[in-house]
Amino acid sequence: MIYLDTSATTAMYPEIIDIIKKYAVDNYYNPSALYTNALNVAKDIKNAKQKILDILHGTGNIVFTASGTESDNMAMFGSKKFKDCKILISNVEHSAIYQCAKKLEAQGIQVEYVACDRFGIVDEDDFKAKLSSNVALVSIMHACNETGGVNDIEKLVKLTNQLAPRAIFHSDGVQAVCKMPINLNKLGVDLYTFSAHKFHGMKGVGGLYIKKGVNINPIIFGGGQENGLRSATENVSGIISTAYALEKTYKNLDIEKNKKIMNYLETSLRKIVPNCIINTDFQRSLSNILSFSVPNTRGEVLLHLLEDKGIIIGTGSACSAQKAHTRIPIALGLSKEYFDGMLRISIDNSTTFEEIELFVKEFDNCYKFLSNIMK
Ligand code: PLP
Repeated sequence: MIYLDTSATTAMYPEIIDIIKKYAVDNYYNPSALYTNALNVAKDIKNAKQKILDILHGTGNIVFTASGTESDNMAMFGSKKFKDCKILISNVEHSAIYQCAKKLEAQGIQVEYVACDRFGIVDEDDFKAKLSSNVALVSIMHACNETGGVNDIEKLVKLTNQLAPRAIFHSDGVQAVCKMPINLNKLGVDLYTFSAHKFHGMKGVGGLYIKKGVNINPIIFGGGQENGLRSATENVSGIISTAYALEKTYKNLDIEKNKKIMNYLETSLRKIVPNCIINTDFQRSLSNILSFSVPNTRGEVLLHLLEDKGIIIGTGSACSAQKAHTRIPIALGLSKEYFDGMLRISIDNSTTFEEIELFVKEFDNCYKFLSNIMK
């Protein structure tokens, strides 16, 4: 099987099973307990946190959660609001942010949606125009899960500090972490989300970075773990394996190889479907995602034809297993005939040129087959 949907999830490193055994079977102690074995587990969690902060160059704290989605919810609901405040998000944010914004809107908080260009990158003029002194929270994703487009977060944070000094700046880094170098101190963000299963860690483990000096409220209450910010007995093996996976994946990251693969892919796709639209601008994107839209075609059909050949690719969220919606294609400015035909190829370090060549060959066959049927 050729797996080209690494933005959806990745395979967990098999050696993480040893970490799970170590902390779930051998050293299974509750890190909040007072005996030495438990204190040792608490120390291992502390070291894992510090390792993550060091790799991402952050100064502050990390609260571990059960997903990127939960971290995004914590940022959206836990950050402090004030009377007559407003929130800014981009119009291509992942549902984990977008649905929180909709909920906050229903609760009476004003939300403004910042426009993007056709590559899913925030329009800086529109962003600037929407900043004002009553902005309490800005949430702009670091890299877009649909197109791979990377926002200039450092610049957006600076603009926010100038024009909306009361605002907390959150960035959803779920797709960016381990795909590009991250320096949280340099970015200047107050809050930053990541999710372990996107970089070969376990599913169901996420984190929210909180810059030193920034205060947010908890959204889960109970025994007061994580300094009262996220009650629940810690997912010890999840946390420790996240630090392991982060370090290993960064060591393996080969941006130049990814770029070569993507370059070849783009050229090949343009030949096969001359009127396709490439939604990724490689000058301003992650090196591992290529999004393209095929006109008058259901991406889902191509996906299943390729699946029959043993190749897995992704569709855009306009065509997901949950429900079909048009928010993203509209935000990207695609015209109607391209709505259903959005496809996403996402790779990682293990992807080979041979696999990509095979994908191109099979995609060509599947597209020709489909075009003949539709004649
Ligand atoms: N944010 C972005 C940008 C994502 O791509 C995803 C997952 O695809 C999430 C949030 C949600 O992360 P999780 O699957 O860990 O809940």
